[in-house]
Amino acid sequence: MRLVSTRDATVSASFRDALFAGLAPDGGLFNPAVKLDFRDRLRRLPAGASFPETAAAVSDWLLADEFPAGGAARIARDALTFPIPLRRLEPGVWVLELFHGPSCAFKDVGASYLAAAMDASLAETGARAVVLVATSGDTGSAVARAFHGRARIDVVILYPSGRVSDLQEKQLTTLGGNVQALEITGSFDDCQRLVKAAFMDRELRATVPITSANSINVGRLFPQAFYYVHGHRAAAASGADRVVFSVPSGNFGNLTAGVLAWSWGLPVSAFLAATNINDVVPEYLERGEFVPRASVHTLANAMDVGNPSNFERLQAIFPSRDAMAAVIYGSVSTDEQMLATISDCRRRLGVFVDPHTACGIRAARTYLEGETHDAVEIVVVSTAHPAKFPETVHRACGEYPPVPRQLQGLSGLEKHSIVMEPQGTALRRFLLERYST
Ligand SMILES: *Cc1c(COP(=O)(O)O)cnc(C)c1O
Repeated sequence: MRLVSTRDATVSASFRDALFAGLAPDGGLFNPAVKLDFRDRLRRLPAGASFPETAAAVSDWLLADEFPAGGAARIARDALTFPIPLRRLEPGVWVLELFHGPSCAFKDVGASYLAAAMDASLAETGARAVVLVATSGDTGSAVARAFHGRARIDVVILYPSGRVSDLQEKQLTTLGGNVQALEITGSFDDCQRLVKAAFMDRELRATVPITSANSINVGRLFPQAFYYVHGHRAAAASGADRVVFSVPSGNFGNLTAGVLAWSWGLPVSAFLAATNINDVVPEYLERGEFVPRASVHTLANAMDVGNPSNFERLQAIFPSRDAMAAVIYGSVSTDEQMLATISDCRRRLGVFVDPHTACGIRAARTYLEGETHDAVEIVVVSTAHPAKFPETVHRACGEYPPVPRQLQGLSGLEKHSIVMEPQGTALRRFLLERYST
């Protein structure tokens, strides 16, 4: 598949190259070079196809030219081994549960596919890669789990010391093997700055094959489109005329993947961009001005993003703000509104939800209130298991959610990390000593 930079359509790359490059050389993000049309193929997908079957099919449509003879479908099957159920929450509202993967967050989908695709590529060339990633918690654990045990790939995760939850820290620091956690005595911004500096360092890159795994990577973006196809089919099968997706959003990779699926012909009526009070995109949709700013801390902390990196991709997909605002509606939730939604879901419906998903549910309810058509079904893309945010859930409803198998027993494991000052020279030395080829 041919991809081009959001900044310059003459800057192009194959999917495989983009997988390892992350960003385009001009600093832009990669998008498909031409608008794809999968309407016929979507209609012909067998009714009742499971998520892995749907994912394998769409993966093949996209990437058969680069991973022929069923290779693209195999990548999807290798990566996506966990269920993604769609459950009815209440009339008009469904929850697509993306949190049954190894780290209990939706990022498992993208990270697992990215790992499988990189592995398939490296297996052919015999090369190695070192995945370098900065995390404020969730990305790192999904990436760590996805790449753990992959023979040709090492993973180095930078996280801010003392600023991730105990559970998240255990998820990052207890895997061992090819996963190394670096505990940076600074902020998440310091971690990001260090990673950026490493990627700018040509000399370092000549000896250490570093590559990124962040949410701008097409290897994470594309597989997220698979579950929109899956969720849409399941909701449509229930008789809905119109399907709307409500997407808890921070860096907007998740929502962008849905919009890509829509651009390929998936008949989605609208997307709800559900944010916390870090609302630069809802503000843009309403007022037409995009004003990035420093993020503020909220209970839905995986969405505390003041300058969403995938916004550039959305802008490249839509010809104008009006075109974007005709498909995407913003919805902002405060911490109090998240708590009230969590509490209501538990008390009235008997369901535990995490604070990010709560923003999506609230957006769906608000949209339905203003909706005059009947047969609309809203699919809330649930991004994390409630047990990842036990304190917030407890604060909202006085109960702790049950802990899934993947998160059990972590507290008993011993943490292994290397403590590092937030200085580029320290990271550089570490990478050269450990991973020079
Ligand atoms: C990362 C994350 C989000 C935000 O996803 P984006 O693709 O960055 O918009 C939402 N909820 C949870 C739980 C996350 O981990």
